[in-house]
Amino acid sequence: MARTLPGADVLSTWDYNLLELGDACWEEGLMKSIGKLLFTHYGLIEYFNLSEERLSCFLSSLDSLYRKSNPYHSAAHAVDVAINVHFLLQSGFLRFFTKMDLLVLCVAALGHDAGHFALNNAFLVNSDHEIVRKYGAVSALEHFHVSKLMEVLEDENSFVHALSPSDLVELKTMVTKMVLATDMSRHRDYFTQFEEWCNVARKESGVTQGDNDRSWVEARIPNLSPAERTLFMSMVVKCADLANVVKPVEQAEAWAERIMREFQAQGERELALALPLTQPAKTANFEWQLAKHQLGFLENVVGPLYQSMMELADEESRSIVLNHAKRNAEIWSKRVHDLDPERN
Ligand SMILES: [Zn+2]
Repeated sequence: MARTLPGADVLSTWDYNLLELGDACWEEGLMKSIGKLLFTHYGLIEYFNLSEERLSCFLSSLDSLYRKSNPYHSAAHAVDVAINVHFLLQSGFLRFFTKMDLLVLCVAALGHDAGHFALNNAFLVNSDHEIVRKYGAVSALEHFHVSKLMEVLEDENSFVHALSPSDLVELKTMVTKMVLATDMSRHRDYFTQFEEWCNVARKESGVTQGDNDRSWVEARIPNLSPAERTLFMSMVVKCADLANVVKPVEQAEAWAERIMREFQAQGERELALALPLTQPAKTANFEWQLAKHQLGFLENVVGPLYQSMMELADEESRSIVLNHAKRNAEIWSKRVHDLDPERN
């Protein structure tokens, strides 16, 4: 590999930049190396008595489902989501989950965009895509990712055959729930449910929002129901999926450029096919469009999500993430102002 793969401790730092590993590393199978590293770190190979060879086989097959030509939704994004899950677990969420939950989180993070072909649900619906005809208009793309992921998960060479039949059913059911939770059209539902849970837990403990006192969380952890754990796992996966926006600004910019290029390519296709334009097509004001998009997404979606979620994390992790959120909002806001085509 062009660079040495970092250890689990380095991967769990918020500043760690996966993109710096360079393209050569991706050619050599980073999903397999980082996937195995996380499975090992969380003791999943030992606990579930998994074959390392079969785990490698699953990770390589999963890697091959991600298109290298996608500007954003490539294997790099999937691995990035997995290391963001790792950060969140290390920042305090680990104590909420069982070994099975951790297995679900690793598989779901790495597989949540399997087979992605750089178009979103709006395009699929407007073009009456075969995936919409197969799965219906609600979360069509996410159902497609689940089906691709299940193909490799259930392959005869996959690691899952070491699991008991009931564990395998649970893994598949929960992974499906996690992948479906990444559909942004359902974002409000998950966020509201999570906020309501926090409000009730705080109220019952007599703690007010914003206090550094975490006793309201600690009091609930030993008695979390499966439904509550499912909600927390969904939130961990969702936060990890949207983490780019609150990363150090160089990383936030690099990922934002990738997603904007993917959006613009979709916009071009929508124009060519005379479909409703749901993404901006190529424009002379790329930098301004990018800054506007990032600022809106940060202020309206990802900022409030992390503000709420990190109340359950340790103080240091919370301040690292929220400081980046604040700094990035200032930077994007200045760029939106400076690059405004009406001013120039
Ligand atoms: Zn994703």
